[in-house]
Amino acid sequence: MSEAQASQTLALLESEAKICTACRLAQTRTQVVFGVGDPDADVLLVGEAPGFNEDLQGEPFVGAAGQLLNRLLGEIGLSREDVYIANVLKCRPPNNRDPAQDEVDSCKDYLRAQITIIDPNVVVTLGNFATKLLMRTETGITRLRGRTYPWWQGRTLVPTYHPAAALRSGDRLIGEMQSDFALVRDVLSRPRTITPSGKGAPPEASTDKQSDGSRPDPEDQAEQMNLFA
Ligand code: URA
Repeated sequence: MSEAQASQTLALLESEAKICTACRLAQTRTQVVFGVGDPDADVLLVGEAPGFNEDLQGEPFVGAAGQLLNRLLGEIGLSREDVYIANVLKCRPPNNRDPAQDEVDSCKDYLRAQITIIDPNVVVTLGNFATKLLMRTETGITRLRGRTYPWWQGRTLVPTYHPAAALRSGDRLIGEMQSDFALVRDVLSRPRTITPSGKGAPPEASTDKQSDGSRPDPEDQAEQMNLFA
């Protein structure tokens, strides 16, 4: 898909999402927070759900967490305009409560379509919620972060902390996020060897090691790559 086509298709999807009433969050949101950035980005960042400020302004990560995100991107030579930023849920859960499963089920086709249209090389999951959903795991972010994972249709997934959690916890977590963003930079410096159709072996499939040193189970990888299928 050309950049112009991606931009048009994404705009169409956004106009559908803006009037979505598929779940109860439609009744309490101020507005839908679809996503922001380059429709042809190499990097897609995925958070959990809009918070208070995002719901008011209609853009993901606009508060202090967003400023940290901008800083981390800047340190690897990227700006907010170079990437695409979205959330699992497009509407704010009241009082920032955790997303409910039926809300995720109602919303995840939007994220799936965003991934397909933008076709990023790297997907960065921010925090436990997005990471567990996109990696189909119950393992927490502390154990998962610090490495890359082959993911759906030959993409690379980089899990990291939620920037709001890093802001609460301080320098150590921010330093670990910096290492995770350096991984993003490393992946981007290598050519993508897989077509969007997902055919062929993912680049790291046969060599990547789990954090415990074992090889990833090929069936798990297939599951991850077919996450939304
Ligand atoms: N937290 C998120 O997960 N997403 C936002 O957009 C803002 C805060």
